[in-house]
Amino acid sequence: MDITFVESEKGKKKLCLDGYLYIKDKTVNNKIYWKCEMCKKMKCSARVITVNESIQKRSGNHNHAGDAAEIDAAKAMEKVKEHAINSQDTPHYIVSCASMEVSGAAAVKLPSVSNMKRTIRNIRARKKYWTCFAK
Ligand SMILES: [Zn+2]
Repeated sequence: MDITFVESEKGKKKLCLDGYLYIKDKTVNNKIYWKCEMCKKMKCSARVITVNESIQKRSGNHNHAGDAAEIDAAKAMEKVKEHAINSQDTPHYIVSCASMEVSGAAAVKLPSVSNMKRTIRNIRARKKYWTCFAK
């Protein structure tokens, strides 16, 4: 089972599983309850419970198709963030790398170029802050 986590633009963690995205519902002790991202929009009842980043329980069925393009876009943004932290490349270069890598369908789902550049600058500013803090 392919389970991955991505971060939304607002810094919220999302779970990707089998082509669907889940948002965090609640955390109880070490269990994290996730609900399908379409729970409101489509009244989807699919739920997942994870413990230590592995799946413990799944319930409900999706009443809609998964959105592979959206997941690709979310994963591409993860790469952008990593790239931003691990290199000195310009935001412009990082964004152009990301747009080249994703499929056409996913490219449509990516945030705007100016938005991505801002994300890169924010991440680097935060990293700088923590580096100073650690000293
Ligand atoms: Zn669903």
